[in-house]
Amino acid sequence: MSTFKSESYDCKYHFWSFVMFTVTFSAPSVEPIYGIVLDAGSSHTALYIYKWPADKQNGTGVVTQHSECHVDGGGISSYAGQQGVAGQSLEACLDQAVKDIPKERHQLTPVYLGATAGMRLLHISNPVQSTQILQEVGYKIQSYPFSYQGATILSGQEEGAYGWVTVNYLLENFIKYGLVGHWLSTGRPTVGALDFGGASTQITFATQEGIEDKQDMMKLHLYGQEYSLYTHSFLCYGQDQALQRLLAHISQNYSESVDHPCYPAGHSRTLHFSSIFKSPCTTKYKPSSYKPQAFLIIRGTGHYEHCLGNVSEIFSFDGCSFSQCSFDKVFQPNVTGRFMAFSAFFYIHSFLQRVTGITVNTPSQLEEATRVVCRMNFNEVKFYSTLVLPRLQDYCASSVFVKVLMLRGYGFSETSFPHISFQKKAGDTSVGWALGYMLSLSNLLPAERLELRKALTP
Ligand code: AMP
Repeated sequence: MSTFKSESYDCKYHFWSFVMFTVTFSAPSVEPIYGIVLDAGSSHTALYIYKWPADKQNGTGVVTQHSECHVDGGGISSYAGQQGVAGQSLEACLDQAVKDIPKERHQLTPVYLGATAGMRLLHISNPVQSTQILQEVGYKIQSYPFSYQGATILSGQEEGAYGWVTVNYLLENFIKYGLVGHWLSTGRPTVGALDFGGASTQITFATQEGIEDKQDMMKLHLYGQEYSLYTHSFLCYGQDQALQRLLAHISQNYSESVDHPCYPAGHSRTLHFSSIFKSPCTTKYKPSSYKPQAFLIIRGTGHYEHCLGNVSEIFSFDGCSFSQCSFDKVFQPNVTGRFMAFSAFFYIHSFLQRVTGITVNTPSQLEEATRVVCRMNFNEVKFYSTLVLPRLQDYCASSVFVKVLMLRGYGFSETSFPHISFQKKAGDTSVGWALGYMLSLSNLLPAERLELRKALTP
């Protein structure tokens, strides 16, 4: 069993250096093997338990989700400066994992914690606090009987690529079990991954086109195939940070009250200026002088066109130095093939369909449904939704954001948009980077073909 522990964040850390983390499992029986991933997101932490048959580690589709547990409260980065709280917040789910996994398997069960954009932001604004939090959650996990494999901050590129691995593993796009009793390459095209988290958003897909910015290129060797991926993560473009940036953009020139065109008409809220400008993502909107403790009243007007105008302004569509860009001067080849859109993409898409009754398969349907939601006053939104505040005020803004991001940013068209499937789960397994992370770090995704592996094994 590996004793490798990683608590450091290294931007240069390369995705496929996972061989360093390789864990060798020696399972004596055909009892399943378990693995745990804590997905420490910006808005919350989720603990996933995976399992796979001890005698069939290398096929696709053999690793499935056993259970999941959602930690109450905010993400680990929200406990910055409160010593011990981030670690304590994980206790209930770790206790649950102790019950979910048979006792005799505890010590054989690797447990990984991966933190994403909330901790990337904290690492930028306060590296000392981010290191303390990682250490603290690491110590907490080590107080449990599992095999601790480290607590790290994933780079945006890793987050994108692991999400892509998860999607294609679950869809069994890498290999299939042939009639002759061998695992074979499927020859099927892979599916792109669109992840919309709380603090960052990722787009990852295989492409034959040249990738003009090498930072966005990743080559993966899986089961004897080489995959050339385009992947980009946009920090501050996750749902919560995008909403925060929109609010900061709208509020920057006002001192007492402001109209918010994306909030439903009839809704108002009062905020301290300090809460509007506290995130590193809103720094560029911060007025040179403002009273942090002063209040600002925000009144919804529910005006689709004005909302679209403001949301578009938090993207930059100018100054591309490549042959083409998505936005913010970032190169992107043309989107191609099928995609799976998960995390907040799924929540927004499902809310739009449920509340408007419109099936959202095309860009025009996305726009139509978004217009309907933005026109609803606050009582109507409440009536149509079973959800409670505080999210309800944000669905118009989030839907408009998703429209601008996907259509104008990523360039999905009337032809390509219908090839996006909005999903939270594939079978019983949640879609996100966590499964791909565990498969890679636990050496469950061989680079070479399986027959070759067999031949090499003495
Ligand atoms: P997660 O995938 O849990 O990290 O969440 C990603 C983003 O989705 C965060 O901005 C969450 O606040 C948001 N989110 C979680 N549940 C919902 C929901 N039911 N509707 C809209 N957004 C949600």
